[in-house]
Amino acid sequence: MHRLIVANWKMNPDTPSEARALVTATKLVAGNLRHTNVVICPPAVFLALLKPTRKIALGAQDISTELRGAYTGSISAPMMKYSGVTYAIIGHSERRALGETDEIINQKIKIALSQGLRVILCVGERARDEHGHYLKHLREQLEKAVYRLPRPMAKGLIIAYEPIWAIGVDAKQADTPAGFLEQSIFIRKVLSHWCGRTMALELPILYGGSVNPKNAVSFIKEGEANGLLVGHESLRADHWREIIKIVDHA
Ligand code: PEP
Repeated sequence: MHRLIVANWKMNPDTPSEARALVTATKLVAGNLRHTNVVICPPAVFLALLKPTRKIALGAQDISTELRGAYTGSISAPMMKYSGVTYAIIGHSERRALGETDEIINQKIKIALSQGLRVILCVGERARDEHGHYLKHLREQLEKAVYRLPRPMAKGLIIAYEPIWAIGVDAKQADTPAGFLEQSIFIRKVLSHWCGRTMALELPILYGGSVNPKNAVSFIKEGEANGLLVGHESLRADHWREIIKIVDHA
């Protein structure tokens, strides 16, 4: 399985020229990748400026629950597709914090997959308690996300395990590779009740949360992550390029 490294630019950078520069920097390393595919998820207004290549795909940071109509400010999955997008991040914790419910996420996943987009479903707990209550939360997020989705849809699903406490420049620390590995085993177990053991074992699971050039390799090697979701460090061209190279060589 190819590794996947996803850049979530969030609401950055400010200008189209900065966006183009980041893509140019990515192209410098992407051409030589042997085991890794790169996905860049820019703000939607930059999509038209950034052409996907064989090694660099484009992703949406979110999509609408609807296909068309009176939904001011929303962008549909077909519109994303026509803009070159092949992946969609769904259920990012920053969107959940704005009121996105598990039911909305379930609807978005259904729409995205039925339109042929690959879904990067973000799950993760706000805090990790010693009694393991956070696992119940994680289980609920997963079960509600795939509720009543046909089993074959699992083929288009990628899970990004992103503990909220590890996300962002202000996070104190990333998860540990061992912690990630434990969660990914749990995620596969929960999803196996939906899509079966074989498919659950094949689901790509990415780690996200304060990934940087120092810790990237450990999540791939010790944590057995199928890839990484990178936020603020994907905006620093030098660090981003290093992370991509490290993941490909790991
Ligand atoms: C994210 O928010 O998806 C993320 C991974 O952020 P960061 O790398 O900045 O922690």
